[in-house]
Amino acid sequence: MITKTCPHCGIAFKPARRTQRSCARKRCIAAQAAETRDRITKYQAAYRAAKRKKGANRSAAYRAAHPNKHAQYQATYRATHREQIAEYQAAYRAANRDKIAERHAAHRAANRKKLARRTAAYRAALRDEIARRTAAANAANAKKRAKQNAASRAAKRLSKARIKR
Ligand SMILES: [Zn+2]
Repeated sequence: MITKTCPHCGIAFKPARRTQRSCARKRCIAAQAAETRDRITKYQAAYRAAKRKKGANRSAAYRAAHPNKHAQYQATYRATHREQIAEYQAAYRAANRDKIAERHAAHRAANRKKLARRTAAYRAALRDEIARRTAAANAANAKKRAKQNAASRAAKRLSKARIKR
């Protein structure tokens, strides 16, 4: 008869089955069950991680090999799931409002100088454009007014000449 040493209490026992790892004490059976559970959980986690990695590798390889197909697939997916995507994004935004605000603030803080430069450049460009338009409008108005003045002077001259006659 084989005897094993119980890993939980250190006492030798005679296993009823070859797979029995602990002695028959309740405490040891419970400890053994917990250990087994733990082992299974770890194994499952490792298995899932490996599978995820394999899947990620495979899709990365697929994307690399079929760049157009992948882009097409994404475009099709976006087109057919527009509402779903919008809903998902809205839900994400609603659930992560604080996080998003924080990220935006951080982004703004990190890019303050760049943003300021861009805003200043935009304002300067706008100022030039507005000045140019104003000048053009003024010139057009001046021309129109000059024409009107000339017309009214001509009309006055004409009426004076009529009165003299
Ligand atoms: Zn034991």
